[in-house]
Amino acid sequence: MAKSKAVKKVLDSHVIKGTHKVVKAGDCVLLRASDPGNPPYVARVEKIESDNRNNVKVHVRWYYRPEESMGGRRQFHGAKELFLSDHYDIQSFDTIEGKCTVHTFKSYTKLDSVSAEDYFCRFEYKASTGGFIPDRVAVYCKCEMPYNPDDLMVQCEACKDWFHPSCMNLSQEQVKKMDHYVCPDCDASGQQEGDKKQGSIEGASALEESKSWPTDSGSQDGEKKSRNSHRVFPRSEQKNQRSGKNSK
Ligand SMILES: [Zn+2]
Ligand SMILES: [Zn+2]
Repeated sequence: MAKSKAVKKVLDSHVIKGTHKVVKAGDCVLLRASDPGNPPYVARVEKIESDNRNNVKVHVRWYYRPEESMGGRRQFHGAKELFLSDHYDIQSFDTIEGKCTVHTFKSYTKLDSVSAEDYFCRFEYKASTGGFIPDRVAVYCKCEMPYNPDDLMVQCEACKDWFHPSCMNLSQEQVKKMDHYVCPDCDASGQQEGDKKQGSIEGASALEESKSWPTDSGSQDGEKKSRNSHRVFPRSEQKNQRSGKNSK
C-alpha cells in the first residue's frame, strides 16, 4: 500500500483546544513548558499548518526570557521582559495553552495595569551568539543602569535625569510624597533656583520624552553619546548555555 504523502495546508487560524481563543499568524502565544514546573514558553506564531491527517503544527519564533539568554537576567531586566530571538521552531499546535500580548517597551510603560498575559520586548536576541539588537541603550541615575520599568524612578527637574530612590538614599514613600525633586548635583550647583517647572514622579512612563529609548547610535545627540557610549548593555558575555527549546 502506497504511503500517503503528508500534504500540508496553511490555515488562516486555529482554535486552542478547550477554549474559544483563535490563534492567527502574528499572534503571541504561550506554549506548555516541557517541565510543568516552569513558566510557559512565549512565541510569535509565523504560520499554522495542518497535514492530511489533521495534525496541526505551528511555526513559531521564540521569545527568550532573560534567564534563558547567555548573559542571564540582569538587574535592569523587567519581570515581564522578553527578547525576540532568531530561533525558529515547529511545534504541535496542541502545546499552545493560551495567548498573550508582547508590548513594545513604550506601550508597556503606559499600561494602567499589567496582567499575567502582558509582556514587553525591547531587544532582539541572537540565540547563537548571545548578541542583542540594539546593543546599546541609554542609562540613567548615578548607577548608570538602563531603565527597568518595574522600578520606581524620580526625575530631577533641573537636569531631567531619572534616579532610583535607593541610589539617592531616599525611601519609596519619601519619593511618592514629593512634588519636586532636585538631585544633589543640581542642588549643589543651584541651577534650579526659581524654576517653576514640575518634576514628575512616577514609574518613569514619561522617560522616553526626555531620553531616547532604546537608543540607536544614529539618533543620539553629542551629549548623550559621550555619556553613554562607554556603556554597552547588555554585554554579550557567553557564559550560560541557552535552554534546549529545540529539544522539545
Ligand atoms: Zn540607580
Ligand atoms: Zn539633577
